[in-house]
Amino acid sequence: MNNKTLDTSRPQNFFGTSEARLKEIFSNWKVETYRVHQVFTWVYHYRCTNFSEMTNLSKSLRSRLAENFYFSLPKIQHRTHSKDGSTKYSFELDDGVIVESVWMPSDSRNTLCLSTQAGCRLNCSFCLTASLGLQRNLTTSEIIGQYLAVNGEQENQITNIVFMGMGEPLDNYGPVVDALHLMTSPEAMKVSTRKITVSTAGLVDKMKTFQKENLAINLAVSLNASDNATRDQLMPINKKYPIEVLIDCLKKYPLKPRRRHTIEYVLLADVNDSDEDARRLAKWLRDVPCKINLIPFNSFDSSEYRPPAEERILQFQNFLIEQNFSTFVRRNRAADILGACGQLAAQSAVNTPGSSGASFENP
Ligand code: SAH
Repeated sequence: MNNKTLDTSRPQNFFGTSEARLKEIFSNWKVETYRVHQVFTWVYHYRCTNFSEMTNLSKSLRSRLAENFYFSLPKIQHRTHSKDGSTKYSFELDDGVIVESVWMPSDSRNTLCLSTQAGCRLNCSFCLTASLGLQRNLTTSEIIGQYLAVNGEQENQITNIVFMGMGEPLDNYGPVVDALHLMTSPEAMKVSTRKITVSTAGLVDKMKTFQKENLAINLAVSLNASDNATRDQLMPINKKYPIEVLIDCLKKYPLKPRRRHTIEYVLLADVNDSDEDARRLAKWLRDVPCKINLIPFNSFDSSEYRPPAEERILQFQNFLIEQNFSTFVRRNRAADILGACGQLAAQSAVNTPGSSGASFENP
Protein backbone atom coordinates (compact mmCIF):
# COMPACT_ATOMS: atom_id res chain seq x y z
CA MET A 1 0.00 0.00 0.00
CA ASN A 2 1.25 3.43 -0.87
CA ASN A 3 1.65 5.32 2.38
CA LYS A 4 0.85 8.94 1.75
CA THR A 5 0.45 11.49 4.45
CA LEU A 6 -3.06 12.68 4.95
CA ASP A 7 -3.55 15.89 3.03
CA THR A 8 -7.12 17.06 2.86
CA SER A 9 -6.17 20.68 2.39
CA ARG A 10 -6.99 20.65 -1.32
CA PRO A 11 -9.46 18.63 -3.35
CA GLN A 12 -8.16 15.39 -4.80
CA ASN A 13 -9.22 13.09 -7.60
CA PHE A 14 -11.58 10.46 -6.22
CA PHE A 15 -10.47 8.07 -8.97
CA GLY A 16 -7.25 6.65 -7.67
CA THR A 17 -8.06 7.23 -4.01
CA SER A 18 -7.47 3.88 -2.36
CA GLU A 19 -9.89 2.21 -0.01
CA ALA A 20 -7.32 2.42 2.80
CA ARG A 21 -6.82 6.13 2.24
CA LEU A 22 -10.53 6.88 2.16
CA LYS A 23 -10.97 4.91 5.39
CA GLU A 24 -8.19 6.99 6.90
CA ILE A 25 -9.89 10.20 5.81
CA PHE A 26 -13.31 9.04 7.07
CA SER A 27 -11.89 8.06 10.42
CA ASN A 28 -10.28 11.50 10.61
CA TRP A 29 -13.71 13.00 9.89
CA LYS A 30 -15.24 10.71 12.56
CA VAL A 31 -17.39 9.04 9.91
CA GLU A 32 -18.06 5.27 10.17
CA THR A 33 -15.65 3.46 7.84
CA TYR A 34 -18.40 1.24 6.36
CA ARG A 35 -19.52 4.39 4.55
CA VAL A 36 -16.47 3.92 2.32
CA HIS A 37 -18.15 0.88 0.87
CA GLN A 38 -21.29 2.88 0.14
CA VAL A 39 -19.36 5.60 -1.66
CA PHE A 40 -17.36 3.05 -3.66
CA THR A 41 -20.59 1.29 -4.67
CA TRP A 42 -22.00 4.57 -5.96
CA VAL A 43 -18.88 5.41 -7.91
CA TYR A 44 -17.69 2.07 -9.26
CA HIS A 45 -20.93 0.10 -9.40
CA TYR A 46 -23.52 2.76 -10.29
CA ARG A 47 -20.95 5.01 -11.98
CA CYS A 48 -22.30 7.98 -10.10
CA THR A 49 -19.86 10.87 -9.98
CA ASN A 50 -22.11 13.37 -8.26
CA PHE A 51 -21.90 13.18 -4.47
CA SER A 52 -25.23 14.97 -4.04
CA GLU A 53 -26.97 11.94 -5.64
CA MET A 54 -25.57 9.50 -3.05
CA THR A 55 -28.78 9.48 -1.11
CA ASN A 56 -27.88 6.92 1.53
CA LEU A 57 -25.22 9.29 2.87
CA SER A 58 -25.99 12.19 5.17
CA LYS A 59 -26.21 15.61 3.56
CA SER A 60 -23.24 16.82 5.56
CA LEU A 61 -21.07 13.91 4.42
CA ARG A 62 -22.15 14.49 0.83
CA SER A 63 -21.13 18.12 0.91
CA ARG A 64 -17.89 17.32 2.73
CA LEU A 65 -17.02 14.81 0.04
CA ALA A 66 -17.85 17.33 -2.67
CA GLU A 67 -15.57 19.90 -1.02
CA ASN A 68 -12.67 17.47 -0.84
CA PHE A 69 -12.92 15.36 -3.97
CA TYR A 70 -13.47 15.79 -7.67
CA PHE A 71 -13.75 13.22 -10.47
CA SER A 72 -11.38 13.44 -13.39
CA LEU A 73 -10.40 10.95 -16.10
CA PRO A 74 -7.51 11.28 -18.54
CA LYS A 75 -8.68 13.14 -21.64
CA ILE A 76 -9.01 10.99 -24.77
CA GLN A 77 -7.06 12.99 -27.32
CA HIS A 78 -7.35 10.57 -30.20
CA ARG A 79 -8.79 7.18 -31.17
CA THR A 80 -7.33 5.15 -34.01
CA HIS A 81 -9.37 2.22 -35.25
CA SER A 82 -7.81 -0.91 -36.69
CA LYS A 83 -9.30 -3.23 -39.31
CA ASP A 84 -9.06 -6.04 -36.76
CA GLY A 85 -11.37 -4.21 -34.35
CA SER A 86 -8.67 -2.88 -32.03
CA THR A 87 -8.63 0.76 -31.04
CA LYS A 88 -5.64 2.71 -29.89
CA TYR A 89 -6.45 5.46 -27.42
CA SER A 90 -4.11 8.39 -26.94
CA PHE A 91 -4.66 10.15 -23.64
CA GLU A 92 -3.54 13.63 -22.83
CA LEU A 93 -2.76 13.95 -19.13
CA ASP A 94 -3.15 17.16 -17.12
CA ASP A 95 0.43 18.29 -17.79
CA GLY A 96 0.18 17.58 -21.52
CA VAL A 97 2.02 14.25 -21.36
CA ILE A 98 0.64 11.68 -23.82
CA VAL A 99 0.18 8.01 -22.99
CA GLU A 100 -1.80 5.36 -24.78
CA SER A 101 -3.86 2.24 -24.25
CA VAL A 102 -4.96 -0.37 -26.75
CA TRP A 103 -8.40 -1.96 -26.72
CA MET A 104 -8.32 -5.43 -28.31
CA PRO A 105 -11.62 -7.24 -28.63
CA SER A 106 -11.83 -10.88 -29.67
CA ASP A 107 -14.55 -13.54 -29.63
CA SER A 108 -13.71 -14.68 -26.14
CA ARG A 109 -12.51 -11.52 -24.39
CA ASN A 110 -11.96 -7.80 -24.55
CA THR A 111 -8.46 -6.92 -23.47
CA LEU A 112 -7.13 -3.51 -22.54
CA CYS A 113 -3.37 -2.95 -22.68
CA LEU A 114 -2.52 0.01 -20.48
CA SER A 115 0.47 2.17 -19.62
CA THR A 116 2.06 2.74 -16.21
CA GLN A 117 4.73 5.29 -17.10
CA ALA A 118 5.21 7.94 -19.75
CA GLY A 119 8.36 6.56 -21.36
CA CYS A 120 10.59 4.09 -19.56
CA ARG A 121 14.05 4.12 -18.05
CA LEU A 122 15.06 0.49 -18.56
CA ASN A 123 16.56 1.16 -21.99
CA CYS A 124 15.93 -2.25 -23.59
CA SER A 125 17.71 -2.09 -26.93
CA PHE A 126 14.80 -3.53 -29.00
CA CYS A 127 12.09 -1.30 -27.54
CA LEU A 128 11.03 1.95 -29.17
CA THR A 129 9.59 3.37 -25.95
CA ALA A 130 13.10 3.23 -24.48
CA SER A 131 14.16 6.07 -26.77
CA LEU A 132 11.89 8.41 -24.77
CA GLY A 133 13.64 7.81 -21.48
CA LEU A 134 11.39 8.17 -18.47
CA GLN A 135 9.20 11.25 -18.76
CA ARG A 136 7.35 10.51 -15.55
CA ASN A 137 5.46 7.92 -13.53
CA LEU A 138 1.69 7.80 -13.89
CA THR A 139 -0.48 8.30 -10.83
CA THR A 140 -2.96 5.70 -9.62
CA SER A 141 -5.84 7.74 -11.04
CA GLU A 142 -4.11 8.00 -14.44
CA ILE A 143 -3.66 4.22 -14.49
CA ILE A 144 -7.22 3.26 -13.53
CA GLY A 145 -8.46 6.27 -15.52
CA GLN A 146 -7.35 4.58 -18.77
CA TYR A 147 -9.56 1.62 -17.85
CA LEU A 148 -12.53 3.72 -16.75
CA ALA A 149 -12.39 6.01 -19.78
CA VAL A 150 -12.27 3.13 -22.29
CA ASN A 151 -14.85 1.04 -20.43
CA GLY A 152 -17.12 4.06 -20.28
CA GLU A 153 -17.40 4.33 -24.03
CA GLN A 154 -17.17 0.74 -25.29
CA GLU A 155 -20.41 -1.16 -25.65
CA ASN A 156 -18.74 -4.37 -24.46
CA GLN A 157 -16.99 -4.27 -21.14
CA ILE A 158 -13.29 -4.88 -20.70
CA THR A 159 -12.76 -8.45 -19.50
CA ASN A 160 -8.95 -8.61 -19.32
CA ILE A 161 -6.30 -6.07 -18.44
CA VAL A 162 -2.65 -6.35 -19.39
CA PHE A 163 -0.04 -3.98 -17.98
CA MET A 164 2.06 -4.13 -21.13
CA GLY A 165 1.89 -0.60 -22.45
CA MET A 166 4.46 2.09 -21.96
CA GLY A 167 6.72 1.72 -18.96
CA GLU A 168 7.84 -0.84 -16.43
CA PRO A 169 4.97 -1.43 -13.98
CA LEU A 170 7.22 -2.50 -11.10
CA ASP A 171 9.33 0.62 -11.54
CA ASN A 172 6.24 2.66 -10.58
CA TYR A 173 5.48 0.34 -7.72
CA GLY A 174 3.21 2.21 -5.27
CA PRO A 175 0.75 3.72 -7.77
CA VAL A 176 0.57 0.42 -9.73
CA VAL A 177 -0.15 -1.60 -6.58
CA ASP A 178 -2.79 0.90 -5.48
CA ALA A 179 -4.36 0.69 -8.96
CA LEU A 180 -4.39 -3.12 -8.76
CA HIS A 181 -6.04 -3.01 -5.34
CA LEU A 182 -8.75 -0.70 -6.68
CA MET A 183 -9.24 -2.80 -9.80
CA THR A 184 -9.60 -6.07 -7.90
CA SER A 185 -11.31 -4.96 -4.70
CA PRO A 186 -14.84 -6.36 -4.33
CA GLU A 187 -15.71 -2.92 -2.92
CA ALA A 188 -14.43 -1.10 -6.01
CA MET A 189 -13.97 -2.28 -9.59
CA LYS A 190 -14.27 -6.03 -8.92
CA VAL A 191 -12.06 -7.29 -11.75
CA SER A 192 -10.97 -10.88 -11.12
CA THR A 193 -7.25 -11.22 -10.36
CA ARG A 194 -7.17 -14.00 -12.96
CA LYS A 195 -8.02 -11.45 -15.64
CA ILE A 196 -5.11 -9.14 -14.97
CA THR A 197 -1.50 -9.64 -16.11
CA VAL A 198 1.37 -7.44 -15.06
CA SER A 199 4.36 -7.62 -17.38
CA THR A 200 7.82 -6.97 -15.98
CA ALA A 201 11.34 -6.87 -17.33
CA GLY A 202 12.29 -8.80 -14.18
CA LEU A 203 12.88 -6.38 -11.32
CA VAL A 204 13.52 -9.19 -8.88
CA ASP A 205 13.48 -7.15 -5.64
CA LYS A 206 10.13 -5.63 -6.60
CA MET A 207 8.80 -9.05 -7.65
CA LYS A 208 9.61 -10.32 -4.15
CA THR A 209 7.73 -7.42 -2.56
CA PHE A 210 4.88 -7.79 -5.03
CA GLN A 211 4.26 -11.42 -4.12
CA LYS A 212 3.51 -10.31 -0.54
CA GLU A 213 0.82 -7.84 -1.60
CA ASN A 214 -2.05 -10.28 -1.22
CA LEU A 215 -3.07 -9.58 -4.81
CA ALA A 216 -2.47 -12.91 -6.63
CA ILE A 217 -2.05 -11.14 -9.94
CA ASN A 218 -0.55 -13.06 -12.88
CA LEU A 219 2.96 -12.03 -13.80
CA ALA A 220 4.44 -12.02 -17.27
CA VAL A 221 8.22 -11.86 -17.33
CA SER A 222 10.10 -10.58 -20.36
CA LEU A 223 13.01 -13.00 -20.58
CA ASN A 224 13.96 -12.33 -24.20
CA ALA A 225 17.31 -14.17 -24.15
CA SER A 226 18.68 -17.55 -23.16
CA ASP A 227 22.12 -16.46 -21.94
CA ASN A 228 23.35 -13.61 -19.79
CA ALA A 229 25.70 -12.08 -22.36
CA THR A 230 22.84 -11.63 -24.84
CA ARG A 231 20.38 -10.50 -22.19
CA ASP A 232 22.91 -7.95 -20.91
CA GLN A 233 22.93 -6.49 -24.43
CA LEU A 234 19.18 -6.50 -24.87
CA MET A 235 18.07 -5.56 -21.38
CA PRO A 236 20.57 -3.65 -19.22
CA ILE A 237 18.49 -4.58 -16.13
CA ASN A 238 20.00 -8.06 -16.56
CA LYS A 239 23.29 -6.78 -15.11
CA LYS A 240 21.44 -6.19 -11.85
CA TYR A 241 19.20 -9.26 -11.96
CA PRO A 242 20.80 -11.94 -14.18
CA ILE A 243 18.82 -14.85 -15.57
CA GLU A 244 19.65 -17.31 -12.75
CA VAL A 245 18.44 -14.82 -10.13
CA LEU A 246 15.25 -14.15 -12.06
CA ILE A 247 14.54 -17.85 -12.64
CA ASP A 248 15.19 -18.63 -8.98
CA CYS A 249 12.66 -15.94 -8.01
CA LEU A 250 10.08 -17.44 -10.39
CA LYS A 251 10.62 -20.94 -9.02
CA LYS A 252 9.97 -19.72 -5.48
CA TYR A 253 7.12 -17.40 -6.41
CA PRO A 254 3.89 -18.55 -4.74
CA LEU A 255 1.18 -19.32 -7.28
CA LYS A 256 -2.48 -20.11 -6.75
CA PRO A 257 -3.60 -23.58 -7.93
CA ARG A 258 -3.83 -23.93 -11.71
CA ARG A 259 -2.02 -20.66 -12.28
CA ARG A 260 1.29 -20.25 -14.07
CA HIS A 261 3.62 -17.48 -15.06
CA THR A 262 3.88 -16.15 -18.58
CA ILE A 263 7.34 -15.97 -20.08
CA GLU A 264 7.64 -13.43 -22.89
CA TYR A 265 10.38 -13.93 -25.43
CA VAL A 266 10.87 -11.37 -28.21
CA LEU A 267 12.30 -13.24 -31.18
CA LEU A 268 15.15 -11.37 -32.89
CA ALA A 269 16.71 -12.87 -36.01
CA ASP A 270 20.25 -14.15 -35.45
CA VAL A 271 20.31 -12.76 -31.92
CA ASN A 272 18.24 -15.10 -29.76
CA ASP A 273 16.42 -17.42 -32.20
CA SER A 274 18.80 -20.37 -32.70
CA ASP A 275 18.15 -24.02 -31.83
CA GLU A 276 20.74 -23.58 -29.11
CA ASP A 277 18.69 -20.67 -27.69
CA ALA A 278 15.55 -22.80 -27.66
CA ARG A 279 17.46 -25.60 -25.87
CA ARG A 280 18.88 -23.23 -23.25
CA LEU A 281 15.49 -21.59 -22.76
CA ALA A 282 13.88 -24.98 -22.15
CA LYS A 283 16.60 -25.79 -19.64
CA TRP A 284 16.10 -22.58 -17.68
CA LEU A 285 12.34 -23.04 -17.60
CA ARG A 286 12.34 -26.74 -16.78
CA ASP A 287 10.91 -26.34 -13.26
CA VAL A 288 9.10 -23.04 -13.73
CA PRO A 289 5.30 -23.35 -13.94
CA CYS A 290 4.82 -21.28 -17.07
CA LYS A 291 3.57 -20.82 -20.57
CA ILE A 292 5.74 -19.17 -23.18
CA ASN A 293 4.69 -16.33 -25.46
CA LEU A 294 7.00 -15.82 -28.41
CA ILE A 295 6.76 -12.30 -29.81
CA PRO A 296 8.29 -11.87 -33.28
CA PHE A 297 10.12 -8.54 -33.19
CA ASN A 298 8.20 -5.56 -34.56
CA SER A 299 10.69 -3.59 -36.58
CA PHE A 300 11.11 0.16 -36.55
CA ASP A 301 13.34 2.32 -38.72
CA SER A 302 16.03 3.14 -36.23
CA SER A 303 16.45 -0.47 -35.13
CA GLU A 304 19.18 -2.86 -36.18
CA TYR A 305 17.02 -5.88 -35.28
CA ARG A 306 14.79 -7.94 -37.55
CA PRO A 307 12.12 -10.54 -36.87
CA PRO A 308 13.09 -14.12 -37.76
CA ALA A 309 11.64 -15.76 -40.87
CA GLU A 310 8.30 -17.49 -40.30
CA GLU A 311 9.88 -20.93 -40.61
CA ARG A 312 12.43 -20.15 -37.88
CA ILE A 313 9.67 -18.89 -35.58
CA LEU A 314 7.73 -22.12 -36.06
CA GLN A 315 10.81 -24.28 -35.53
CA PHE A 316 11.57 -22.43 -32.31
CA GLN A 317 7.98 -22.86 -31.16
CA ASN A 318 7.86 -26.54 -32.11
CA PHE A 319 11.02 -27.32 -30.21
CA LEU A 320 9.52 -25.85 -27.04
CA ILE A 321 6.21 -27.64 -27.60
CA GLU A 322 8.11 -30.94 -27.98
CA GLN A 323 9.69 -30.16 -24.63
CA ASN A 324 6.15 -29.96 -23.20
CA PHE A 325 5.91 -26.19 -22.83
CA SER A 326 2.66 -24.49 -23.80
CA THR A 327 4.11 -22.13 -26.36
CA PHE A 328 2.26 -19.48 -28.34
CA VAL A 329 3.30 -17.01 -31.00
CA ARG A 330 1.80 -13.64 -30.23
CA ARG A 331 0.66 -12.22 -33.52
CA ASN A 332 0.50 -8.57 -34.36
CA ARG A 333 -2.71 -6.84 -33.37
CA ALA A 334 -3.65 -3.46 -34.73
CA ALA A 335 -0.58 -3.36 -36.99
CA ASP A 336 -2.39 -1.15 -39.49
CA ILE A 337 -2.86 1.59 -36.90
CA LEU A 338 0.61 1.21 -35.37
CA GLY A 339 -1.29 -0.15 -32.44
CA ALA A 340 1.62 -1.17 -30.32
CA CYS A 341 1.38 0.13 -26.79
CA GLY A 342 3.54 3.20 -26.28
CA GLN A 343 4.01 3.67 -29.95
CA LEU A 344 2.40 7.03 -30.61
CA ALA A 345 4.33 8.82 -27.91
CA ALA A 346 7.47 7.07 -29.01
CA GLN A 347 6.70 7.95 -32.59
CA SER A 348 6.26 11.65 -31.91
CA ALA A 349 9.52 11.67 -29.99
CA VAL A 350 11.66 9.98 -32.58
CA ASN A 351 9.55 10.92 -35.60
CA THR A 352 9.56 7.57 -37.35
CA PRO A 353 6.20 7.30 -39.09
CA GLY A 354 5.41 3.76 -40.08
CA SER A 355 7.54 2.39 -37.32
CA SER A 356 6.31 -0.31 -35.08
CA GLY A 357 7.04 -1.09 -31.46
CA ALA A 358 5.76 -3.91 -29.34
CA SER A 359 2.67 -5.76 -30.40
CA PHE A 360 0.23 -7.12 -27.92
CA GLU A 361 -2.31 -9.82 -28.05
CA ASN A 362 -4.14 -11.54 -25.27
CA PRO A 363 -1.54 -13.41 -23.27
N1 SAH B 1 8.31 -3.18 -19.11
C1 SAH B 1 7.46 -4.31 -19.20
C2 SAH B 1 6.17 -4.07 -19.99
C3 SAH B 1 6.24 -3.31 -21.30
S1 SAH B 1 6.90 -4.09 -22.71
C4 SAH B 1 8.20 -5.52 -19.69
O1 SAH B 1 9.38 -5.38 -20.05
O2 SAH B 1 7.67 -6.61 -19.67
C5 SAH B 1 5.78 -5.41 -23.05
C6 SAH B 1 6.39 -6.52 -23.90
O3 SAH B 1 6.69 -6.05 -25.24
C7 SAH B 1 7.69 -7.04 -23.33
O4 SAH B 1 7.67 -8.45 -23.31
C8 SAH B 1 8.73 -6.54 -24.31
O5 SAH B 1 9.84 -7.40 -24.30
C9 SAH B 1 7.96 -6.52 -25.61
N2 SAH B 1 8.51 -5.63 -26.67
C10 SAH B 1 9.02 -4.38 -26.51
N3 SAH B 1 9.43 -3.89 -27.72
C11 SAH B 1 9.13 -4.82 -28.64
C12 SAH B 1 9.27 -4.91 -30.07
N4 SAH B 1 9.80 -3.92 -30.78
N5 SAH B 1 8.83 -6.02 -30.69
C13 SAH B 1 8.26 -7.03 -29.99
N6 SAH B 1 8.07 -7.01 -28.65
C14 SAH B 1 8.52 -5.93 -27.98
